[in-house]
Amino acid sequence: MPSDLRPIERNSQLVDLALRSELAVAGLRADPPLHRESGAGPSDDGFWLLGGLPTSVPIAPDSPWARSDDGVLTRNGIVVDAELAPIDPPRFYDRRTSDGIPMQQIARLHGRHVLATTVVQTCVRYGNEDERCRFCTIEESLAAGTTTQVKRPEQLAEVAVAAVRLDGVRQMVMTTGTSNGPDRGAKHLARCVAAVRRAVPGLPIQVQVEPPSGLGWIARLRQAGATSIGIHIESLDEEVRQRWTPGKASVPVERYEVVWREAVRVFGRNKVSTYLLIGLGENPDHLVAGARKLIGMGVYPFVVPFRPLAGSLAHADGVPAPGHDLVADVTDRVGAALRKAGMRGADQKAGCAACGACSALGAVGG
Ligand code: SF4
Repeated sequence: MPSDLRPIERNSQLVDLALRSELAVAGLRADPPLHRESGAGPSDDGFWLLGGLPTSVPIAPDSPWARSDDGVLTRNGIVVDAELAPIDPPRFYDRRTSDGIPMQQIARLHGRHVLATTVVQTCVRYGNEDERCRFCTIEESLAAGTTTQVKRPEQLAEVAVAAVRLDGVRQMVMTTGTSNGPDRGAKHLARCVAAVRRAVPGLPIQVQVEPPSGLGWIARLRQAGATSIGIHIESLDEEVRQRWTPGKASVPVERYEVVWREAVRVFGRNKVSTYLLIGLGENPDHLVAGARKLIGMGVYPFVVPFRPLAGSLAHADGVPAPGHDLVADVTDRVGAALRKAGMRGADQKAGCAACGACSALGAVGG
């Protein structure tokens, strides 16, 4: 195996950070049985169990990394001693809702145990390239006809029941495109959460939303039954925000801080998270310092490598993924800060930090 890669520590759930970071940015030549294409958040990836941990890896036909059908992982043709197991598509994908919609158009399996959905698949910022986040592909799956624009609460409840019964799903993530209204999409999210909780009372649910205009929406989401909340800023650097998320950057960082604090008050410490993307050009020391500040507020910084997804503006511009060394460095330092604070993603019960598949933080105990 290559000298700079150590094997996964089997049975310990520890995955080598260098290996995890390389796979995260280089991707894998393979045909994963469970995969997803363009949509909200990181996509164009396959889902695997890397040393037992749910892991999303870009599908990359030109990657030096490959996995043979009999499970051997190689880099540049050299065998790497790591266990990368496929995840079978769930049985609920074969079902339809009672109004005839294929369930996989309503929600998808992420990793091994997460049911994920985008309750409104359009975003007020997407139509205008001067406002759209440059990494985003939220409306591409809608254009491809693989999802529906608005998921109705009763559809989500039916799919959740099926996914829990047939496939052992343990948590649910509900994100939304941003609406024009002052709730920014929270109103529909709250209805969807309430319907799923009525149907499957024990299923933890994370909601993801932009900062609503009124702080009362945070408590309404909690009252509807959400377990945790993601309020995603992607970068704390103002220049990076203006360049990468020009529409969202109209909401000042200070407003995010007010809403994060309210969310921590309502949901609790380490039940609130935000995405911070590695590879947008931000100074890594600045990124880590910002992550530490968030941790001090009780907000979990889910650090994730930027991916140039097909269909995104960044992909059209030819912006590359970050180097794996940068991913490993930032992840290592943020992971250490999370451990020191006693904040584990798994303790959130629901959401991306609890899933961990799109970040390398799982390799460092975050
Ligand atoms: S980390 Fe979030 S977006 Fe990534 S697979 Fe898990 S639930 Fe899905």
